[in-house]
Amino acid sequence: MRNTGRAPLLTLDRTGEGRQEPEPDLDEVAAKFRAAFEALGLDLSDPNLVGTERRVARAYRELFAGLYAGSAPELRTFANTEGYSEMVAVTDIPFHSLCAHHLLPFFGTAHLAYLPGEKIVGLSKLARVVDFYARRPQIQERMTEQVVELLVERLRPAGAMVVIQARHSCMEMRGVAKAGAVTTTSAVRGVFDEQRTRQEFLGLLGTRRGSARL
Ligand code: ZN
Repeated sequence: MRNTGRAPLLTLDRTGEGRQEPEPDLDEVAAKFRAAFEALGLDLSDPNLVGTERRVARAYRELFAGLYAGSAPELRTFANTEGYSEMVAVTDIPFHSLCAHHLLPFFGTAHLAYLPGEKIVGLSKLARVVDFYARRPQIQERMTEQVVELLVERLRPAGAMVVIQARHSCMEMRGVAKAGAVTTTSAVRGVFDEQRTRQEFLGLLGTRRGSARL
């Protein structure tokens, strides 16, 4: 990446919105993938590999879209005029990301909840927040924190909680090769520190697959 002289891509600010790169040049990325494929010993005259460097470059540009300028989701909020003070939860938001250590996929579901303060947000926007942070080289723990931080920063809620459950290809395809293992991470803020509020949210998740034993 043409990132020399600037802070590295993975050093993000608190919510990860701060450093948005321009979209990379496809030709440049494809040429470098081609060099890497050659170094890996691929036979680039194989008809199935013709043009692969360009397809891979395009795929990664799409998978890293959350890094590039203009990708931050607009989180339009509304005044909580009804004074709604119960938990708002959106569960089972599917996502795909790439682990920052191996650039292999990790994927699963994200579960978000907040207790409104003065603002509420359109529910579909919450799924966009998950996508924004998934579309970059990522660490599940950090993604969980980034999503909850963004909710706190934008909504100023009484509390927020995020649970992410994911399978990691780098664990399943290589290394310890443990297929089907699910990694669960969670981040809590505000009133979700209280056992009762946290249990209310986890109860919503626990009804499925006996998951989220936190
Ligand atoms: Zn990994």
